[in-house]
Amino acid sequence: LIQLYMPLNFMGMVYRQIKQAVIDIDDMFAILARNPEIRDAPDARPLVIDQAAVAFEDVHFAYRADRPILRGISFSVPAGKTVALVGPSGAGKSTISRLLFRFYEPQSGRIRIDGQDIAQTQQKSLRSAIGMVPQDTVLFNDTIGYNIRYGRWDATEAEIREAARLAQIDSFIESLPEGYDTQVGERGLKLSGGEKQRVAIARTILKSPPILILDEATSALDSFTEKEIQDALDRVSRDRTTLVIAHRLSTVVGADEIIVLDKGEIVERGTHMDLLESGGVYAAMWNRQREIDEATRTLLRAQEEE
Ligand code: ATP
Repeated sequence: LIQLYMPLNFMGMVYRQIKQAVIDIDDMFAILARNPEIRDAPDARPLVIDQAAVAFEDVHFAYRADRPILRGISFSVPAGKTVALVGPSGAGKSTISRLLFRFYEPQSGRIRIDGQDIAQTQQKSLRSAIGMVPQDTVLFNDTIGYNIRYGRWDATEAEIREAARLAQIDSFIESLPEGYDTQVGERGLKLSGGEKQRVAIARTILKSPPILILDEATSALDSFTEKEIQDALDRVSRDRTTLVIAHRLSTVVGADEIIVLDKGEIVERGTHMDLLESGGVYAAMWNRQREIDEATRTLLRAQEEE
């Protein structure tokens, strides 16, 4: 029997390794697809995280030379603080997060983490320091436990459960007949946008990166039905250097600084109260958002009554 078992066990190991490699390749393609030109400089050093303070210094960027997207962006996210980027669609918010990940490089200006220019650091070390909770999380065709473990391969079962609890997805998982072994993705159980995002949050909690980018969901309806997500996001960003790409405003109220972008420039900055008092672009956006929220609530109530 042992003669049969050994090769099977070996094959299992090979299978797991191949599967791991496939995922790494997926990751790699995702990165390469964005920009194959970004390479480590021959003398690039690993990023050394001390406090995890982020600074953009007069950053100019264009995807195509004839169309500037960011025009001289300077701001910093002090260690452990939260800065929110708001502004109309196309203002350049997500572009800022792509530059921080170094999917692209600025044409001029610098991005520093703890004083180190990220253009001079090794990409692998940079990306392992940054956690991203995207708007749309892609799940692997595997178990839900595996999808959480993706945040850190050596995590124990207990750590996975704790991450799921903090991300407020534990009771959902435990209600499934196969629990953490439930197959998800295209060939398994389909999760809602909010459930997928909570899996991404659990993953990020396991990864425990010093710097976090939260790309908030766009849909107003989502954020009404998924208040748990906001609580989970608040929890994961506490005491971590966090950049929030806010497509809605209700979630930025507590940010240490709100940066209002328009056409690639910072047009206002301050706390929520500062910006409301100054009665500018942000205050106008806030009032408009309240009208939209009110209309959404009315719609939801009408649907409930039907
Ligand atoms: P939204 O709130 O709609 O997500 P945003 O503020 O995040 O918008 P970005 O995604 O940063 O905006 O896009 C800024 C501008 O850059 C947009 O005009 C967009 O069309 C353009 N853009 C984004 N990605 C690319 C790309 N890969 N190639 C060329 N142009 C791009």
